Amino acid sequence: AAMRQSRIKRTKTVCTYCGVGCSFEVWTKERKILKIQPTVEAPVNGVSTCVKGKWGWDFVNSKDRLTKPLIRQGDRFVEATWDEALDLIAEKLGAIKEKHGPESIGYIASSKCSNEDNFVFQKFARAVMESNNVDNCSRYCQTPATAGLMRTVGLGGDTGTIKDIASAELVIVLGANVAESHPVLATRVKRAHKLYGQKLIVADLRKTELAERADIFFRPKPGTDLVWMSAVTKYIIEQGWHAKEFINERAEGFDEYVASLDKFTLDYAAEVCSVPKETLIQIANMIHNAGSVSMLWAMGVTQHLGGTDTSTAICNLLMVTGNFGRTGTGAYPLRGHNNVQGACDFGTLPSYFPGYELVTDEKVRARYEKAWGTKLPAKPGYDNHQMVEGIEKGEIKAMYLFGEEMALVDANSNYVEAMFGNLEFFVVQDIFFSRTAQFADVVLPAAPSLEKDGTFVNTERRIQRFYQVFEPLGDSKPDWQIFQMLANRMGANWNYTHPSEIMAEAASLAPLFAGVSYERLEGWNSQVWPVSPEGESTPLLYQEKFGFPNGKGRLIPLEWTPPFEPEGYELHLNNGRILEHFHEGNMTYQSVDITHKVPGIWLEVSPELAERRGIKDGALVRLTSPYGQVEVPVLVTDRVQGDELYLPMHTRKLEETVNRLTSSYFDLITHTPAYKEMKVNMDVIRAD
Ligand code: SF4
Repeated sequence: AAMRQSRIKRTKTVCTYCGVGCSFEVWTKERKILKIQPTVEAPVNGVSTCVKGKWGWDFVNSKDRLTKPLIRQGDRFVEATWDEALDLIAEKLGAIKEKHGPESIGYIASSKCSNEDNFVFQKFARAVMESNNVDNCSRYCQTPATAGLMRTVGLGGDTGTIKDIASAELVIVLGANVAESHPVLATRVKRAHKLYGQKLIVADLRKTELAERADIFFRPKPGTDLVWMSAVTKYIIEQGWHAKEFINERAEGFDEYVASLDKFTLDYAAEVCSVPKETLIQIANMIHNAGSVSMLWAMGVTQHLGGTDTSTAICNLLMVTGNFGRTGTGAYPLRGHNNVQGACDFGTLPSYFPGYELVTDEKVRARYEKAWGTKLPAKPGYDNHQMVEGIEKGEIKAMYLFGEEMALVDANSNYVEAMFGNLEFFVVQDIFFSRTAQFADVVLPAAPSLEKDGTFVNTERRIQRFYQVFEPLGDSKPDWQIFQMLANRMGANWNYTHPSEIMAEAASLAPLFAGVSYERLEGWNSQVWPVSPEGESTPLLYQEKFGFPNGKGRLIPLEWTPPFEPEGYELHLNNGRILEHFHEGNMTYQSVDITHKVPGIWLEVSPELAERRGIKDGALVRLTSPYGQVEVPVLVTDRVQGDELYLPMHTRKLEETVNRLTSSYFDLITHTPAYKEMKVNMDVIRAD
């Protein structure tokens, strides 16, 4: 037994799925993954994991992994050496930059990949290719939350830790299916609610698991959260329950903000949101009576025309009631991908260097120019949405994308695919030959987290190391190595030999990470940014001041933007996740256990609607929007109500993909697609 044990390798890793950031040991023998072993030392999850973290790793050894670079020849792809592929990319990108200018190329980064991968990618875009056209998939999800936070409290991250949420007296969850999207975080809330008297309010279109447990669960009409929150805030101020001292000392803009609330009466909100006035008063009372309030939100808030404004309304409500800077208080936009926080933190955004310093700031630019020995572009770049639109306008000629299934996850996918077809040159770097790769000219094989060293940042701003378990499969390579090989072909002279050197460079340049180092992150240690030069973490933000030069928080007057609802379509289509699968499913459908349990998706239809249409479980229906159509099987469930439909986003069948139906409308401030605003018609193909 001792012999056998000695051949088993145990390596610490961090989950590659959601933003909770669970860490655990992977037990392996040669290339076989024996088991995932959680341990009490894990700072976020202790001994808990969810089904994805536990069973979702078969993709690493999948026979479908990309193992060689591929180059398009007509309608097919042929295997190539790294030299051939990289020479071709260098030649093509160089020529397009020369002919059409540096801004004619777009760079899409990956929220699945490490901080170091993302840091090197944005450095490649900025320093080698002279463009700020770099973005990541937070544009699809939480960028409106980041923008809302930056406007009001000054920093684009969760206020505190998951432990802080668990210690709140009242938790309010809006538009977030926490039990399925952030399962281990949800267990903390469930436990606090069940055992320690925490109160829970859930606002959602669907009766989620947390909704079933909540003290108040209500279903505001789609896209109306700003209205009910503004009305509750106004009512609190009218009752004199606002935190007067806190506002006087720590916030600015109160009078102007109060004036802006005029129209948000309880009657107005009750009508617009279709929520009883008594419920709104009850919510105001619960907030007033709670010693600490944390608000959690996700895509149900952000993926709307008014996503940034609604995120801002959350911060306004917390500010007015003094719910910042103490344990149990704060604003928590729950991050989707394992490293969506880190991809933003480490600079794959069109306006920001790593650590959220503006590219337009001369002093900051000078610091990077000195370190990187080159002139850097001052103009903010295009975001994801502008890049796709830029293809149509003839401004964007080439794209380089890694670790992102844009053809399936971007809204209005028929349009996005048509645009990909118009690119002169397209590089896709991934671990699989994704749907997006089908539009590429060169496909590069990358290595997943178990085949490289690196760090991720979870939703609570916690930076954690993961360690290499296996050698990269076939000829695949870690993403940062690929970028370095390409950069050096295009005139750079980079010599990173390990991701720790990349982190050291980021820490030397971005004050937010000043004291971050691989030594301090060794093993189960972690650091929560901002990290002081001495290595001190900041788990709870805003204890003394907010993230603006004068230290004051800002109350922002807001207008409500009604949701986009195309005429002639009768049913509201909501979409999102389920527990077992992740996003487009490229990784989770490779898991034998998960796919055995949940082999595909279904459309949730309410019992009322099913009866009206004469359909049963297993019926097949066609949904049509102005942008496309899908055909999906039906599940009749009271999780949805009335004319509300819910379609999970995880499918590998193109004819079921929800983004065939979504539009190119977007949040007016950040260009995040309004995925949650769609009306469709439903035709019955087969009734049962
Ligand atoms: Fe992974 Fe999230 Fe599940 Fe934790 S909760 S195991 S981070 S998917």
